[in-house]
Amino acid sequence: MSKTISINAGSSSLKWQLYEMPAEKVLAKGIIERIGLNDSISTVKYDGKSDSQTLDIADHTQAVKLLLDDLQKHGIIKDFAEITGVGHRVVAGGEYFKESCLIGDVEIDKIEALSALAPLHNPAHVAGIRAFKELLPDITSVAVFDTAFHASMPEVSYRYPLPTKYYEEYQARKYGAHGTSHQYVANEAAKVLGKPLEELKLITAHIGNGVSLTAIKDGKCLDTSMGFTPLAGPMMGTRSGDIDPALIPYLIEKDPDVKDAADLINVLNKQSGLLGVSETSSDMREIQDGKAKGDPKASLAFDMFVNRLQRFIGQYVAELNGLDALVFTAGIGENSAEIREAVVSGLSWFGMLLDPAKNVFGAEGDISKDGAAVRVLVIPTDEELVIARDVERLKKV
Ligand code: AMP
Repeated sequence: MSKTISINAGSSSLKWQLYEMPAEKVLAKGIIERIGLNDSISTVKYDGKSDSQTLDIADHTQAVKLLLDDLQKHGIIKDFAEITGVGHRVVAGGEYFKESCLIGDVEIDKIEALSALAPLHNPAHVAGIRAFKELLPDITSVAVFDTAFHASMPEVSYRYPLPTKYYEEYQARKYGAHGTSHQYVANEAAKVLGKPLEELKLITAHIGNGVSLTAIKDGKCLDTSMGFTPLAGPMMGTRSGDIDPALIPYLIEKDPDVKDAADLINVLNKQSGLLGVSETSSDMREIQDGKAKGDPKASLAFDMFVNRLQRFIGQYVAELNGLDALVFTAGIGENSAEIREAVVSGLSWFGMLLDPAKNVFGAEGDISKDGAAVRVLVIPTDEELVIARDVERLKKV
């Protein structure tokens, strides 16, 4: 038995989960927020308890040090030597990283060099990786890429119809994201359906604050909705998803608060989606409440969100030329029976029908009507577990 830690480092946060491996038992988890700002908050959850403390944490190295000290302080580990592996989530692997890998100096430099594809994420991941290398230099260190599962996409899916030199010289192509989640729920879906993944046509719908859909055929990604960056695809919590690119120069000219393209991209990332349309919230629970109370803007936001999901599902049914199952996952996909009902009620022509008695809060597994031609599943995602498993797998090589 050994302990492995899964890390998801953001620019000012560090989420972690500690596992006993290979038993895959979660021993503790937590988050350190506001790193580099005043009043950073560290929360540790273990044994049904939750402990929070507020203090100033200057950088990721200090955050990792605090996390390790906390594990000892709460008696979750006795000695740092019990931790034998760390897995880091990395958003952008570009065309270089097609699978999880052990991290050495070359890999760190490469992840850093790929920052243009995920300017908010990759530099933070590198900070997290370096912090662990400094404090626990001898443990197995693994990078798990959000883009890796999508590396199998055919060129016809990942190329944009732009001048070829934009792809060849500037790597302008679709990379996708949430790959770890799509891969995990696809594997779990195959178990529920009792068939090998390689024989199934699936659409996995990761619907949380970020939203992405993936069409899976022969066990591989055929197409996915996020693009060069995670801004593309259906409408999201604060992200617009796909829009006409000609709006970009037009809005820069019209909106006095927007100076340049970077400013507008910020609006498209942070002030659009459910938040932009409802003008109240990016949180689906609040949108559903607003709709129930008759707020027309919340209702429109809800309806547009559903419509954009349906469009992508229809597109992927066509690309797959068939479908065995639609899989819902992530915060909204797992928890909102209302969204699932609204989405699937418009897809009956494709053979998808929900059983209202099964489509309830807390549902897991098959929620479709007996005899429906296409199954609809709810599968909770678990990206941290995939990361811990990859550390375990690569440790043995
Ligand atoms: P995630 O990014 O996967 O954590 O998902 C966050 C989203 O899940 C937010 O929009 C939440 O409002 C939504 N969510 C969580 N629980 C529920 C629920 N019970 N009903 C509707 N939406 C929910």
